Amino acid sequence: MIKYCGVAVLLLLAACDNIAHDQKVHKEEFLAFGTLVNLVIYGESEQQAHTAVKFAIADFMQMHQAWHPWQQGALGDVNRALATGKSIKIDVSISELVSKSRMYYETSKGFFNPAIGGLVKLWGFEESELIARAPPSHKALKQYLQSNPQLADVEQDDLILRSRNPAVLLDFGGFAKGFGIGKVVDHLKKIGLRNFIVNAGGDLQVVGSKGGEPWLIGIRHPRDNGILASIKISGEDSVFTSGDYERYFIFEGKRYHHILDPRTGTPANDFQSVTIVHPEAALADAAATALFVAGKDAWKAVAQSMGIQQVMLVERNGDVLITPQLHQRVEFTKDSNKQVINIVSLQ
Ligand code: AMP
Ligand code: MG
Repeated sequence: MIKYCGVAVLLLLAACDNIAHDQKVHKEEFLAFGTLVNLVIYGESEQQAHTAVKFAIADFMQMHQAWHPWQQGALGDVNRALATGKSIKIDVSISELVSKSRMYYETSKGFFNPAIGGLVKLWGFEESELIARAPPSHKALKQYLQSNPQLADVEQDDLILRSRNPAVLLDFGGFAKGFGIGKVVDHLKKIGLRNFIVNAGGDLQVVGSKGGEPWLIGIRHPRDNGILASIKISGEDSVFTSGDYERYFIFEGKRYHHILDPRTGTPANDFQSVTIVHPEAALADAAATALFVAGKDAWKAVAQSMGIQQVMLVERNGDVLITPQLHQRVEFTKDSNKQVINIVSLQ
């Protein structure tokens, strides 16, 4: 029987009891990307772990500032320029975000669309503190959809960016965390770390193992604040979940959350959560968002086109759909016995 601790916040199980006592495990927590980041490092000297933590904090802080779509910083400046039709010189990391997201837009068949910053704003999801409010009017949504903001409207010549459509505002929130975690992982590997986890609010990438033992990771239940299932992972792998519980408000008894369907302009509602396991954190993050939006009818096609095989989805009624490739790796908690679990092949 697995013993869980502090699961609601971090979902990093990793033999929690041992962490406090095991001299070989260093653990550090700090805030970045609006969430609690948790770094677990195994088998390094105190000094090396300290250096790694310092680099990770600096990297996250820098990315957080540069990639925030609305605040002062590189992406905020880009959005202010695009909205007024001005061209702007971008830095290399913004250029990488733009080109990666063009690819995800294509492979996700348009369900992943980072040009929808204006829609995020229309719903008020850009605010750090969400307040319950009436959803945007039918008229406002119709106007937004007619303005049809697409990444294809954004032209790039070397590092100069310009938009033909002032309605385009870039919001890379659907995969920036994964892309950022991947960058921190690369940095820590470069300075010699071999066994560690970078976990941002339950979305994480692992490297290596815990003294030869796999890391034990919890996947959050979308409704009851506990763990739905756990998975043992080692080597290089990442686990990302998109959920309607992460950012939402309730208005007149209805939940409105932050993962938006670009076709309708409204929150995608087929799933409560979508979890993806894949070695590349940026792709896992983008795919979790894309499949969430794709919904019941299109998630399989989108998974295949994005090159994803390990998927778990919790439907609106709480039933679980899981691909065989992921099912063979997870263990559902005892409490989830009541849950309907359907193994669904992608073919
Ligand atoms: P995630 O938690 O990774 O699914 O990311 C959710 C965030 O991605 C939202 O807060 C928005 O900033 C952004 N987003 C919402 N809908 C979409 C979409 N259809 N495509 C791309 N990004 C989106
Ligand atoms: Mg995502």
